[in-house]
Amino acid sequence: MESTPTHLNDQQLIAALHERGQRVTPQRLVINRALGELQRHVTAEEVLASVEDRLPNVSLPTVYSALELFEDLGMVRRLGVRQGAVLYDPRPEPHDHMVCDRCGKIEDLDGGVELDGAIFRAKRDGFVPKRAEVRINGLCADCAR
Ligand SMILES: [Zn+2]
Ligand SMILES: [Zn+2]
Repeated sequence: MESTPTHLNDQQLIAALHERGQRVTPQRLVINRALGELQRHVTAEEVLASVEDRLPNVSLPTVYSALELFEDLGMVRRLGVRQGAVLYDPRPEPHDHMVCDRCGKIEDLDGGVELDGAIFRAKRDGFVPKRAEVRINGLCADCAR
């Protein structure tokens, strides 16, 4: 997955937390760094696995609450569910996805999709669009083999 780095560094995260009146904690900083390192669609469990050795007392609820906070701050997006676990996308800007129905892998579909027509029709019907994106379901390259 090639993604443009929109990830916040420590200073930017600290500024964003202060702006929202949120506390800066080592957990939040380390979880944010882990997201930057992983740079892919991850479950909270995967984030936990990658921060465990850096944060001795970290728990899954801590990871979930940090991810929820990051979602409020517009730093990650909740993508949907893979095998019962919520997936988070470290790339908050709008982009399209390919979802494998067999293994549950979610990949970015790069290159952009022309959605102006759909947005136009939504507006014509009185809808106020905030975000438009495409999700293609099917089989990933590995599963299709
Ligand atoms: Zn697959
Ligand atoms: Zn994505």
